[in-house]
Amino acid sequence: MPDSPITATVDYHRDGVQHGFLKLPHSHDDSAWGSLMIPITVVRNGEGPTALLTGGNHGDEYEGITALLKLAGRLRAEDITGRVIIVPMMNHPAALNGTRTSPIDKGNLNRAFPGSPTGTLTQRIADYFTRYLVPLCDLALDVHSGGRTLDLLPFAATHRLEDEDLARRCLEGALAFGAPNTLLMAELEGAALYDTVVEAQGKVFISTELRGGGTSTPESVALAEQGVENVLRHAGILAGEPQAGPTRMLEIPDAAHYLQSEHAGLLEFAVHLGDPVRAGDLIARVHSLERTGVAPAEYRAPVDGLLIGRRHPARISLGDTFAVLAVPLDAS
Ligand SMILES: [Zn+2]
Repeated sequence: MPDSPITATVDYHRDGVQHGFLKLPHSHDDSAWGSLMIPITVVRNGEGPTALLTGGNHGDEYEGITALLKLAGRLRAEDITGRVIIVPMMNHPAALNGTRTSPIDKGNLNRAFPGSPTGTLTQRIADYFTRYLVPLCDLALDVHSGGRTLDLLPFAATHRLEDEDLARRCLEGALAFGAPNTLLMAELEGAALYDTVVEAQGKVFISTELRGGGTSTPESVALAEQGVENVLRHAGILAGEPQAGPTRMLEIPDAAHYLQSEHAGLLEFAVHLGDPVRAGDLIARVHSLERTGVAPAEYRAPVDGLLIGRRHPARISLGDTFAVLAVPLDAS
C-alpha cells in the first residue's frame, strides 16, 4: 500500500511538549497546493505506555473536543510517564463546520475505517490513524457524544470481543473512565468503525457518549475531563488512582434495541431520557404534518429496558433512530 499522504510536524519520539499539525495535502480552488492542517499535541516523558486521545471524530460532538483542547493546553511532560498523543478534532473539517461529517467530501470518519491512502480526504485521515497512530499506542480513548441529532445518558463503552483478555482490559479501561454508566454495546455498523481497527490491533479501546444535542454542559465537559485523566491514571501515565464514582453496568445487546421510525413528522416523547420502560409502554408518538384528523403513530417498547438515548430534534423522518434501550448487564 502507498505511504500516507499525511505528514506530521511533530516527532512522536521526542521528549517534551509539541503542538503541531497533521498535514494532509488538499488541492482546491482557493489553494492549488494547500493542505488540511489537523491540530495534534504530543507529550512525552521517557519510556512508558502511550495513550492516543481523540475527539471530534464527529464534528458536532463537543465534550471530547473541549476536554482535549484544554488537556493539550495544560499537560506538561513532567506530569507524565510515557507518551500522550492528543488529536482533539480527528475530522477537522467537520469540527470547523460544526457538523457530523466533512463538508468537503461528506465523509463520516467513523464509517470510513480502515481508510485508504488514495481515497477521499476522510478516508485518508482514517488510514493515517489505522497505519501510523494506532500502532504507536497501547490504549486509545475516543470521546464521542450524541451530536446534533441524539441525546444520550453519559456512558463509557466497550464491546464484546473474541479475545477475552483484550475484552477484559477494555472493560477495565471503560470502568476506569468513571462515567455514571458503563456499557457493552452492539454497534449498528461495526466493520467501518475506528473502534474495530484499534481492537483488531490488540490495543485497549474505550469509547464514550456524553450527552449530545449539538452542545455541551458544565457537567458533561467536567465528566469528559475527569474521565480522560482517569484513563491516563489507569494506564499508569498520570500518577494516582482513577477518581471514579459508582457506575451502572448496562448492555445494548443487539440492533433490536435501536428503535427506528417508520413515519415522518413530529416526534412527541412520552418518557424521559433515563426512564425505565416495560415492554409495551408507550415511548413516543409521531404526528403527521401532512394533514389533520390522522391518529399519530405510536411506538411502544419492544422489551424492558432503560431509555439510554433519544433523538434530540422533534422533526423526524423515516429511518431515524428515536430511542435506544439498554438492559442491565448480566454480571457473568
Ligand atoms: Zn460520534
